[in-house]
Amino acid sequence: MPEKFDVVVIGAGPAGAAAAITTAKAGMSTLVLERGDFSGAKNMFGGLVFTKPTAEIIPEFWKTAPMERKIIEYQYWLLSKESHVQVSHRNQKFVKDFNSFTAFRARFDKWFAAQAESSGATLLTRTTATGVLKDSTGKVNGVSTDRGDINANVVITCDGANSLIAKGAGLHREWKPQDMAIAVKETYSLPKDKIEERFNIRGDEGVALMIYGGREEEYAGFVYTNKDTISFGLGAIMSDLAKTKSQNMPMQMLEWLKSHPSVQRLLDGAALREYTAHLIPEGGYNSIPPLYTDGMMVCGDAAMLVNALNWEGTNFAMFSGKFAGQTAIAAKKSGSGFSASRLAGYQAYLEDSFVLKDLKKFRDVPHFIASHKHFLTLYPELMNDLLYKFFEVDGRAKEEHLKEMKKELYSKRGRLGLIKDAIGLYRKVLS
Ligand SMILES: Cc1cc2nc3c(=O)[nH]c(=O)nc-3n(C[C@H](O)[C@H](O)[C@H](O)COP(=O)(O)OP(=O)(O)OC[C@H]3O[C@@H](n4cnc5c(N)ncnc54)[C@H](O)[C@@H]3O)c2cc1C
Repeated sequence: MPEKFDVVVIGAGPAGAAAAITTAKAGMSTLVLERGDFSGAKNMFGGLVFTKPTAEIIPEFWKTAPMERKIIEYQYWLLSKESHVQVSHRNQKFVKDFNSFTAFRARFDKWFAAQAESSGATLLTRTTATGVLKDSTGKVNGVSTDRGDINANVVITCDGANSLIAKGAGLHREWKPQDMAIAVKETYSLPKDKIEERFNIRGDEGVALMIYGGREEEYAGFVYTNKDTISFGLGAIMSDLAKTKSQNMPMQMLEWLKSHPSVQRLLDGAALREYTAHLIPEGGYNSIPPLYTDGMMVCGDAAMLVNALNWEGTNFAMFSGKFAGQTAIAAKKSGSGFSASRLAGYQAYLEDSFVLKDLKKFRDVPHFIASHKHFLTLYPELMNDLLYKFFEVDGRAKEEHLKEMKKELYSKRGRLGLIKDAIGLYRKVLS
């Protein structure tokens, strides 16, 4: 191993692999540190990986990447106690030109890190970065690990949601509990033909389902189809969980969701294979820490680059990793070092792309949802009740049904509340 690398990347998740592929392809000596036995060994997500962002890093990735199913239908379910309202979109365009696909991180990250290696990067697994090294001016010039120190011109940290390295380097403090979701996931085995029959799909087609409502606490649930397994889980904000009693912890919420009559049918006869849990940094734009300092850049989850509204994180990780790599390449070419002013280009790349544009656009959404919890609790219930009354045939005139529906709407939220919600939603999310 060389005494000093151009770039040391910490973490071989989507952000780290993308950064390493970018710098190694440009001929920079690149070392990737990964604490797991192999890349992906300890990683989990829902989850969907998005086609176009992945193809930006590895053109024609679909020829070799370990994919489960290509998503042709996106569904949203709004639950009440024993019913659901469904909004879904299935499109032949997704069949011809897939927009996203399901994957297992243990396989996908391993494959992605192998692409970094074949681009020229060195991957060091079973190695945990414990902090950054600094020179006498305070510039980051290397990484300390449980196997010794490594010198580098620039460090790109992609160490995920806990973000210990950026925290240790003094870039930010402990994340706030209101900015972090805890997510739990179960993987169920179900024969391929059963999955296809149950979700009305065939071949390698898949369905992604997001679930809200049905209980007092706010949560977001998910069901994703894989080849012969189903990924099922939910996430909830940590500060909300802290307020609730122990019976409301994520595992109990998951048990409840599993037993909901609509959800139960999807998992009927399936065998539990695995249980995992992970943090998701969902604070959004207002909680993003400083993204660079002298000699170091922070990417992906470690920088809170997640769009919780659209369930997107891997694409933010890949693009931020790629931009950090491009910034490092430009700094090397300039020949004037890797100072913070040289690395400011990283922020500019992010601002110019969907990464910071999307997070900025929806910057008030986390706070809006936190202060309007009824959007994910009361409204799903109301929609179920209203639709039940709409479809119910009971010998009464439709006018009576409509009157009852209006009465229920106004009694549960009030006219003023409804107007305020509509304006708030428009201003914070849609305008
Ligand atoms: C339940 C759940 C569902 C999700 N669903 C989706 C989805 O459907 N679609 C989507 O796009 N996103 C989803 N996400 C978000 C997505 O998984 C993340 O945004 C994305 O993985 C971030 O990538 P990353 O490379 O920044 O971090 P990670 O994927 O967390 O990778 C960090 C890597 O760094 C390594 N590491 C950590 N610390 C050290 C250290 N000190 N030294 C060496 N190595 C270290 C880890 O082992 C890991 O390999 C979901 C997340 C969760 C938890």
